[in-house]
Amino acid sequence: MPAPESVSIVLSGEASAVVVISDTPSPVSTLAAEELVAHVEKASGVALPVVSESEVAETGNLSRIFVGTTAAANALGIDAEALKDDAFVLRSDGGDLYIVGKEDEEDYHDRGLNGTLYGVYEVLHRYLGVRWAWPGPLGLFVPQADDIAITEPVDEAQEVRFRIRYFRFSHIRNVANAAADGREPSPEGLNFSAPVVQEYWADKETFMRRHRLGRSGTRYNPGHRFHGWWEEYGEKHPEWFMMHEDGQRGYVHDVPPYGASSSPAHVPMCVSNPDLHRYIVEEAWGGGDRLSLGEVDRRGVCQCEGCLAWDGPQPEPSEYPHSVRMDYEPQVVSDRYAKFWKTILEMAVERNPDVTITTFLYWSYFPAPIEPIELGPQIYGEFVPWTGPAAWVPMSDKLDAWLREQWLGWYDTGIRLAYRPNMFHGGYVMPYFSTRQAGDFFKFAYEHGLEALDFDSLFGHWATRGPMLYMYLRLATHPEMDIEALRQEYFSVFGPAAEQVEHYFDYWEAHAHGIAERADRLAAETPEEGFCPHTGFFAELFPARSIQSYIEYPPEVFDEAKSLLDEALEIAQDHPLDEFAERIHFLQAGLENARLSAAFWEAYDNDQELVPERAQALIDFRREHEHLYFADLNDASHREPQSGFDGIVH
Ligand SMILES: [Zn+2]
Repeated sequence: MPAPESVSIVLSGEASAVVVISDTPSPVSTLAAEELVAHVEKASGVALPVVSESEVAETGNLSRIFVGTTAAANALGIDAEALKDDAFVLRSDGGDLYIVGKEDEEDYHDRGLNGTLYGVYEVLHRYLGVRWAWPGPLGLFVPQADDIAITEPVDEAQEVRFRIRYFRFSHIRNVANAAADGREPSPEGLNFSAPVVQEYWADKETFMRRHRLGRSGTRYNPGHRFHGWWEEYGEKHPEWFMMHEDGQRGYVHDVPPYGASSSPAHVPMCVSNPDLHRYIVEEAWGGGDRLSLGEVDRRGVCQCEGCLAWDGPQPEPSEYPHSVRMDYEPQVVSDRYAKFWKTILEMAVERNPDVTITTFLYWSYFPAPIEPIELGPQIYGEFVPWTGPAAWVPMSDKLDAWLREQWLGWYDTGIRLAYRPNMFHGGYVMPYFSTRQAGDFFKFAYEHGLEALDFDSLFGHWATRGPMLYMYLRLATHPEMDIEALRQEYFSVFGPAAEQVEHYFDYWEAHAHGIAERADRLAAETPEEGFCPHTGFFAELFPARSIQSYIEYPPEVFDEAKSLLDEALEIAQDHPLDEFAERIHFLQAGLENARLSAAFWEAYDNDQELVPERAQALIDFRREHEHLYFADLNDASHREPQSGFDGIVH
């Protein structure tokens, strides 16, 4: 018999609890109860009854699990209305359990009030050992149990740690929606098929919900605020826009950085111009709580005397890693932009003392300011590593140290900080990832002011980068978690083969670090003539370029990896449950896709006649295995030449 205080859920393969919901349950608490019941059933084969509160007079020895706002929770003094958005209370009391968040009448959506649902997910993870390792049925790991109970008393309130837990997903949603309307995912062949992309999107949406991704409040997307301003104001106010070295203002056709490949929509501003400041604060801004100063999405900055005077003393090239030279080209302008934001803030608080200035920390205003400046918490910066090899993970140890210095430098200005990496755009379908370096940087940022996450984008190369993706998703709700513990959580879904799978991923992680160190060394050794002011030292290298995958992942490195998975499979196959061996097959599919992709690029890059043959092998393989979701084939196919793409991440 369980102790009287213990919440018994399943005992000896029989239901020992009922799930109780309000007589007028909210849509989110109804969903929460369904999720609880479904996962318990998967664990034990037992379907717990769900009853309305007024029907639950006598339950005998059964525990009651109250899900959502109920009269019983109120009577216990749990005030859902007093909770913050998406927070929840977990409380055991006399053998019963209460899972309560603030609710409204809306269906679940990722900006809704989801505390009750999140509380259920916490219970499933913590007490049932449920792991959502990747989207779809195979990525759902539910340990089998004849007895499920919460044996220790629990009484806690948990709030979200990041108000914004956003991993962009529209790339796959849009393709799935188009497929539902009868349009094939393009380019055809290497991409998902229409039926599978729809299933994938549905499963991915569920998966993201179970990881509690979403927004508990406004997302401060700074946007590229000045996009299009040249077209709108350039003729009347050319002095508001960047001056080129020859003295011309604004868009100049065929003159870098506004050559024919660019457009007049992307002209950076002359940020020291007082008339521009006045226009922004008095006319362009409506006086609301947010004022975006997100610069256009292009490299290049004003060369006028006023702007140059706002710059800090320019560091010597020996003072930063050679491979991040692009951030300092033609000069680093973080001091200039910091003064711009501060100037605008000082003017804007006269209109609205509660205003927040929002901006990216990006391009050549990515490095921390050189001279000390106090900016304060009314400026919100999104930290966007996006220049050369410091944009990817892993990077060399030297770049990792440099990146931390930049984060810390911004933190010291007192601004609020969000992490908005583009790293998932790199690495193609290859096992290019690092759990340790990525995890350590995340923890470092979290200890130094990190308050929001906006990852671009959640490209799900689940079978080749699974441990890192899983780690990030878990850190989004539990940033205090130890990285090694998160790694072990991920490996545990492979059951008896967990240790072999850990070896397998460690093998690839070490390989990826080797690529990163070598790339940085190449940059350091490249003579000055090898530097291009538009692409830096690195345009030719993996992970920025999928075409290079065959060079960094030659056939022999796949052989070793394959034998590690063979070993894992042998152990997993002995288990009475099929799921562990099936998960190894999933990893094998990711590996084979990577191998075939690299082989395809090799033929393509060397103009070999093998191109059509290898493309067909890749297409056939993907068709046969796509239902496993081993890779985001939509992302992959858009980085392959069939799409007209040149293999470079721009
Ligand atoms: Zn200027």
